Amino acid sequence: MSTTDQGFWPRDDAALRDVIEWAWSRIQTGGDSRHRARPASELEADIGTTITPEGIGTAEAFRRFVDVVVPATRAQDRPLNLAYVPSAPTPAALVFDLAVSASAIFAGIWEAGAGAIHAENQALAWLAGLAGWPSSAGGCFVPGATQGNLAALVAARHDAATRRVEPRPDRWRIAATAEAHSSVRAVARAIDVDVLTVPSDDRGRLTGDRLIATLDGDPIGGDGVFCVVASAGTTNAGVVDELAGIAEVAAERGIWMHVDGAYGGAALAAPSARPLFAGIERADSFVVDPHKWLFAPYDCCALLYRRPELATRAHTQEASYLESVDRERWNPADLAVHLTRRARGLPFWFSLATYGTERYAAAVETVLATTRQIADAIDRRPFLDLVERPDLSVLLFRRPGWSMDDHLGWSDRLAREGVALCIPTRWRDEATMRLCLVNPDTRVADVEAVLDTMA
Ligand SMILES: *Cc1c(COP(=O)(O)O)cnc(C)c1O
Repeated sequence: MSTTDQGFWPRDDAALRDVIEWAWSRIQTGGDSRHRARPASELEADIGTTITPEGIGTAEAFRRFVDVVVPATRAQDRPLNLAYVPSAPTPAALVFDLAVSASAIFAGIWEAGAGAIHAENQALAWLAGLAGWPSSAGGCFVPGATQGNLAALVAARHDAATRRVEPRPDRWRIAATAEAHSSVRAVARAIDVDVLTVPSDDRGRLTGDRLIATLDGDPIGGDGVFCVVASAGTTNAGVVDELAGIAEVAAERGIWMHVDGAYGGAALAAPSARPLFAGIERADSFVVDPHKWLFAPYDCCALLYRRPELATRAHTQEASYLESVDRERWNPADLAVHLTRRARGLPFWFSLATYGTERYAAAVETVLATTRQIADAIDRRPFLDLVERPDLSVLLFRRPGWSMDDHLGWSDRLAREGVALCIPTRWRDEATMRLCLVNPDTRVADVEAVLDTMA
């Protein structure tokens, strides 16, 4: 081992370089589609003891990572990974993630991370502009939309509680459909608020009419409802709620409008899909996960507030050791439930800066066009039924006569062979195949070949 003595930690430079070389080659070649989860008992046997009093050294620890750890993780970025919501980070974003790690930036407060926070804010401003928000809007990056939804709902409730001193409602509530992402109900439980469930329309959408009917039909007339959560791209079906109608009702009733665009918000960048989002310009907060469909690596959620000062009031942490923090500056720590944070928006910023917004728009359009062509391909196959024309890039279809077990068996076989990843779901209580596309390198012909194995 060629150890360079530089400070306290011995450094095996050759082995460390191997790690960087490996990262570079992983970025160039992509992951292996046959890699998959294994039971912990098998992993324990294969990886052996790694945490020892003397340490096993860089080369040996890395060998176990390459041989055991990586093959037991799913390659989320393969073009035929169409399960859940996959990921498709650009080469620039992935490489830059290494640079962010190497820079050891504390991006919680301006004083420590000004340059990084400024660059992140440029990327956020692009998103705010796509939504048609004023330049006074702003936010920060958090790990995921679950965290983003949490921060936005905390800000919304704080704002409502500040405005309504007497009489306090018995319970604070949010309005959402059953199609809202599971994280919305998880966040409601975490902050101890109730959910007023609004029945969705026949396409699974929340509409202004349904919202008003639910508020008016509620025994206490919607009292205590401080926020409505609209989905800009439901996870299960990829449909966008009727944002303009919801915005109208929210404004009329003084309710905060939060738009969860974790997956679908990316399509704001695509001119062909932009009309679906009409009304988002009136929302109070908005989240989109660049790690889903904006070509950034994990973990990266953009959280935006129309009036960031309302979020600051809710989130600022006070302590004697924080007294020197300049509150006149843009401190991401004041905008969500966090203090220390990695500059996790920087890989997204670097990718956007590298390729430009036109190429980003073209990438999202490519995915939308591929999805429409696959919908046509499903329509042409007599053994398949398309459930609905897609709004965005989620496709739901059925193989008539197949049970949930048949769907699961088929999807498991494809995964084992490393052909493709797709996981069934339920739509209106029936077993349904679901594909979710986010990768501009997904080819229609390759997906058609997968479809034909269902014949
Ligand atoms: C994925 C998703 C979430 C959760 O996002 P995480 O980044 O996994 O926390 C929330 N809402 C919607 C609509 C999603 O698709």
